[in-house]
Amino acid sequence: MLSSERNATERPEEASRGYDVAIVGAGFSAISLAMNLLRVLRPPVSVAIVGDDPGFGRGTAYRTDLRVHRLNVAAARMSVYADEPDDFLSWLGSRYGGVSPDGFAARTDYGLYLRDRLAAALRDRDRAFRIDFIKAKATSCNLQTPPSFGFELDNGETFRAANVVLALGVGSADIPAADQIDDQAEHRIVRNPWRLSWLSRVRAAETVLMLGSGLTMIDQVLALFARGHEGKVHVLSRRGLVSHSHATHKLAPVTPARPESREISALLASLRAQARETCAR
Ligand SMILES: Cc1cc2nc3c(=O)[nH]c(=O)nc-3n(C[C@H](O)[C@H](O)[C@H](O)COP(=O)(O)OP(=O)(O)OC[C@H]3O[C@@H](n4cnc5c(N)ncnc54)[C@H](O)[C@@H]3O)c2cc1C
Repeated sequence: MLSSERNATERPEEASRGYDVAIVGAGFSAISLAMNLLRVLRPPVSVAIVGDDPGFGRGTAYRTDLRVHRLNVAAARMSVYADEPDDFLSWLGSRYGGVSPDGFAARTDYGLYLRDRLAAALRDRDRAFRIDFIKAKATSCNLQTPPSFGFELDNGETFRAANVVLALGVGSADIPAADQIDDQAEHRIVRNPWRLSWLSRVRAAETVLMLGSGLTMIDQVLALFARGHEGKVHVLSRRGLVSHSHATHKLAPVTPARPESREISALLASLRAQARETCAR
């Protein structure tokens, strides 16, 4: 548990407290923002971080305990501090000895790195810098007069904040044609594969169908195999493509050429064409 972490129901006397900043969400964006606020804001400052995630501080991406789940960005580019680009590498080095800057660390380690760095930042903070971690879901946020934002939480508490950052993540995609799913099939459908408990419901010889062929599919197949799965895995996607692997050799940065058209699709097509050309050189 983080040092100032609390369940909001435990301290009702603080129900209508006011904060300078409220951060809603408790994943990477919320935690890294809080760490950076600790560095740049001058105390006295009060910050509330409201999150409903059981893995407070890790979010969907870094909550996994499976070491087969790797970062998709090289370790040298995962520091939480822009002005200390080697910070994650040094943290990894202090745990595992020499590590390659081009390597892909386990995501569970990245979650631990975030918590370690946050704990260190909290230990070193000025006493006049207050951060409250509130385990709850924010159900509403309204502009009030004098200008401030009023929050309601799902545990019945309320609070106010002068500044608000919504760091809610992207959530999960809806199931296509959900209204056509037979009631009897419902219990065989996994809506949120990031609740890894679904893996224990699959018997080793069963066939699994994955909808989508991106990085989440790869992670889930790795997780199935790590549990000794022997059944068939089918993957269905609109284009039948899987993610590219990272380039094995470093390419010099290029200045992107801008297309005449201001349409976002034209810009995307142009950037893709330039990326293809550069990689082919
Ligand atoms: C499986 C996976 C692997 C990834 N791997 C990488 C990687 O290797 N490298 C990389 O750079 N990026 C990676 N990403 C992208 C990654 O998600 C982002 O970089 C970053 O972790 C997103 O953090 P976030 O805080 O914006 O969202 P999230 O981590 O999704 O956190 C949002 C949080 O807000 C909470 N929340 C939402 N609504 C409310 C509410 N009303 N009240 C309270 N709390 C609320 C949610 O419960 C959640 O905990 C990965 C993403 C996924 C899904």
